[in-house]
Amino acid sequence: MSDSLHDVVVIGGGMSGLTASIYLAGKGFKTALISRGDPVCCLSTGCIDVMAAGEGPLEAIADLPGGHPYRLVGRKGIEDALKLFKDTMAGSPVPYVGTPRRNREILTPIGTFKTTCLVPRTMEASQGCRDDYLHVISFSGIRDFYPSYITSKLPNTGFSLYDAGVSSTLAIATRFEEPGFVDDFCSWLSGIEIPPGRVALPAVLGLRKPVALMEDISGRIGRDVFEIPTLPPSIPGLRLFQALKGSFQEKGGYVFWGKAISSVEIRGNMVEAVTLAASGRPSRVQGRAFILATGSFVSGGLFATRDAVKETVFDLNVEIPGPRNDWFWNDFFTPGHPIEGSGIEVDSSFRPLGSGLENLFVCGSILARSDIMKNHCGHGLALATGLKAAKMCERMLT
Ligand SMILES: Cc1cc2nc3c(=O)[nH]c(=O)nc-3n(C[C@H](O)[C@H](O)[C@H](O)COP(=O)(O)OP(=O)(O)OC[C@H]3O[C@@H](n4cnc5c(N)ncnc54)[C@H](O)[C@@H]3O)c2cc1C
Repeated sequence: MSDSLHDVVVIGGGMSGLTASIYLAGKGFKTALISRGDPVCCLSTGCIDVMAAGEGPLEAIADLPGGHPYRLVGRKGIEDALKLFKDTMAGSPVPYVGTPRRNREILTPIGTFKTTCLVPRTMEASQGCRDDYLHVISFSGIRDFYPSYITSKLPNTGFSLYDAGVSSTLAIATRFEEPGFVDDFCSWLSGIEIPPGRVALPAVLGLRKPVALMEDISGRIGRDVFEIPTLPPSIPGLRLFQALKGSFQEKGGYVFWGKAISSVEIRGNMVEAVTLAASGRPSRVQGRAFILATGSFVSGGLFATRDAVKETVFDLNVEIPGPRNDWFWNDFFTPGHPIEGSGIEVDSSFRPLGSGLENLFVCGSILARSDIMKNHCGHGLALATGLKAAKMCERMLT
């Protein structure tokens, strides 16, 4: 068995675990990040929802119930986390725009508008697009992108279809990075008669330098261009994930990817090590502190049986608001579904309540009472609690 010793071991490589890891590695702590698989952000629009209610997401936080994780982080903590995120992304090919003081709207592939907070630069010109003429470019054979829905819902719109020779979003994004493809695309686009206004296309402007590609196309056709997020697999979600993971690795962080935890070692009130399952040689990863960021049901941080909800790494107590009969609504994705509030309750230092463990901190969508779908606070909550847990961990280690 291989053995390694770290200051901090973060379990779960989603938005919360990556935020905690980036912060701690940036502070010089020897940080290991363990993740069984790719996180939920790869399925997301790539936009950072903080709180959908109201114009100012930070104001809406004051209306949340006392036990909500945002209330434990506080307004300043949320602002600090969004700043850390924006600073991190500013050094990546996908800088983000927006402010936690004001929500914005982006156009969706079905012609509705989604309220969110921070967006990748490639979606910046989506804001206010209903006031202008909008020309939507779609691609032959592409699935899950519906320009006719957009044109039927927004009166001042039109669309055209380009044949990229491939039809999945990932394959089209790859084509945009091939030499000569943008030249062909732009000469076709310049040949279409379009009324003055903006041009939008599904989010397929490559994985590596989407902003540069967007600016290139925009400059050549003399119009504002923006991307519309598509259904999973989401190119903006993948870009976001790759940028954050890359930032952690640049800071010297150590990654164990595609590894699940097979056992944990606890002595007294301290977690000492976790062991990673491997068909060949298992790895034992020791840490002075641990951060649990394994997500909710979708990522397997929580697991529901007929009678109980289990936390899958440390077997921590899981808080489930409301009676068990309320778990069985027909639609799991209904906002406010009672099971959505279940998770790990933490104290003000983000240690799990009732565990007695002094060197374990918890963050992200595994936290109890998050109500992410109801509040539309997915990535925002992950960033805010990820940074808070990391700071509590830092305090313990110094
Ligand atoms: C389809 C979909 C679309 C969404 N779109 C948006 C959006 O557009 N904007 C927004 O703000 N929010 C969105 N959300 C919500 C948001 O994605 C999540 O709330 C947030 O990203 C959760 O981050 P997390 O770090 O808590 O967990 P996760 O992203 O769930 O990450 C947990 C990680 O832990 C790993 N893991 C689990 N168990 C173990 C284990 N035993 N050992 C090691 N690793 C383990 C998993 O493999 C995973 O990588 C969306 C959610 C869904 C489901």
